[in-house]
Amino acid sequence: MHLIYSRFITKVTRDLGLHKFDEPFQKLLTQGMINKFQPHCPDCNVFLMKVDLKEMKCKICGNTNLIQKSVKMSKSYGNTVDPGEIIDKYGADAARFFILFGASPSSGLEWSDEGLGFANKFLNKAFHLFTERIKFSRNEISIRDTLMNYKLNKLIKAVSTALEKIEIRDAVNNIILFTTELVKYKSEGVIEEIYNECLEKLALI
Ligand SMILES: [Zn+2]
Repeated sequence: MHLIYSRFITKVTRDLGLHKFDEPFQKLLTQGMINKFQPHCPDCNVFLMKVDLKEMKCKICGNTNLIQKSVKMSKSYGNTVDPGEIIDKYGADAARFFILFGASPSSGLEWSDEGLGFANKFLNKAFHLFTERIKFSRNEISIRDTLMNYKLNKLIKAVSTALEKIEIRDAVNNIILFTTELVKYKSEGVIEEIYNECLEKLALI
């Protein structure tokens, strides 16, 4: 509804001679729906509503052989999630991070507890990467270190390109892959200079 308002106001103020443009936006990116699994009766092709969830059977045919199918979150389906519970269990950062890597504007977001668990684990891993000291360091540069440097540059390029196109999920996926790689590099023994640069750039990204 706010889109109609903004276009209306733009056109009214244009007609009043206050400016000369016709549309309020050059480009519009709308977010996708948030979906979650919900019991579904394949025989009648209907989802169970919130009121039917207690009995867990199809209101139309009485079928109890239901399947789980993804549908947009809504109060009438009763498949919404309580942000308070998620924040208590995983923390607000994990919830934000999950939305960033799970959501794409074109396809929406598939809500899953596994995804939240993964986000939580990843953030812990990243936290330890930044807070724990290096255990093994080396002095002689090997192909492993050159490769790490290459991966860092690849990450910077991939994230920059993704952000320009507002493809947040791609950016986040690249960050996850690089972080995992850096954890591995750290555990194998590092050239401190290269490792510190990776860590610093990762923090900036
Ligand atoms: Zn049915």
